[in-house]
Amino acid sequence: MIDKNLLNSPLYKMKYDVNNNLYIKRDDLIPFSFGGNKVRKAVLFFEDIINNGYDHVVTYGSRSSNHSRVIANIAKSYGIPCTIISLDEKEETFNFELIKSFNANIELTEVDNVKSKIDNVMSNLKSIGNNPYFIQGGGHGQLGTEAYVQAFNEILEYENYNDIEFDYIFFATGTGSTQSGLVSGSLLSNSQSNIVGISIGRNKKRGEDVVFQSIESYLKNINVKITQSQIKEKLIFEDKYLLDGYSSYNKEIKNIVKEVMNIDGIPLDYTYTGKAFWGMHNYLREHNIKDKNILFIHTGGTPLFFTDMRGNEI
Ligand SMILES: *Cc1c(COP(=O)(O)O)cnc(C)c1O
Repeated sequence: MIDKNLLNSPLYKMKYDVNNNLYIKRDDLIPFSFGGNKVRKAVLFFEDIINNGYDHVVTYGSRSSNHSRVIANIAKSYGIPCTIISLDEKEETFNFELIKSFNANIELTEVDNVKSKIDNVMSNLKSIGNNPYFIQGGGHGQLGTEAYVQAFNEILEYENYNDIEFDYIFFATGTGSTQSGLVSGSLLSNSQSNIVGISIGRNKKRGEDVVFQSIESYLKNINVKITQSQIKEKLIFEDKYLLDGYSSYNKEIKNIVKEVMNIDGIPLDYTYTGKAFWGMHNYLREHNIKDKNILFIHTGGTPLFFTDMRGNEI
């Protein structure tokens, strides 16, 4: 497993032109299993697992997902058995190839049966004397939020050290723990940055609700009193760039992925980072934002870049 100091990922100015000073924080370069936000979160989950003597890790997530890959990889490196509860999807992805190579045990389920499947798997493991640990899909929960409070603190350190303030921070938002951590971190430090989550799957109503609840419960848990309206003011969940929902993309996204690779040598994928980067680009244009300091957080997913590359020209 990686040393926590290695989570402090590179942050630097990009060449790509969006009429603003564009910076990027490369969480995709966190040095374990192709990095990404799932590694940041998993480091805290596995700390909990190791410190408390759990002996089997169970998670819910697509067998094509970055989350499942990272959990299976860390479990493998510790020699802890891992069970992934997944829906049955046909698509063959590099994440899936990797998960198979880590010998994770995959339990398929129907979408209506997820909860009872999880309960079954957990109670079966307990009945044979195991002490299993459950990680929510995407690494959602208190620790997932905490991981991105820490990331926000890294951003603050960069700002202080370099005497710069980011006017906007953009990233792909899915289950919402990345966003709840960043927003909590910003509330705790009184930062003025606008934090804009570009939704890659959920509509505004549902997405905003989930992020709001995560922030509220995180702050309550650490005994910090911040009002609901203060949270709401800081919460920008933008669902305008969803297209047809999760994993849908268009020609513009493909182009931007190609351009960013050509100009900055940074791999993005169509589902998460490419879509969010494209959403950011449109957001800046539509809100007439110019000459500001903008930070894009690269949340990882590099194996998806290679999957997307098959049959496409990148
Ligand atoms: C999971 C994931 C996200 C979304 O993160 P959440 O914390 O679930 O909102 C964004 N980008 C990548 C590459 C991911 O794998």
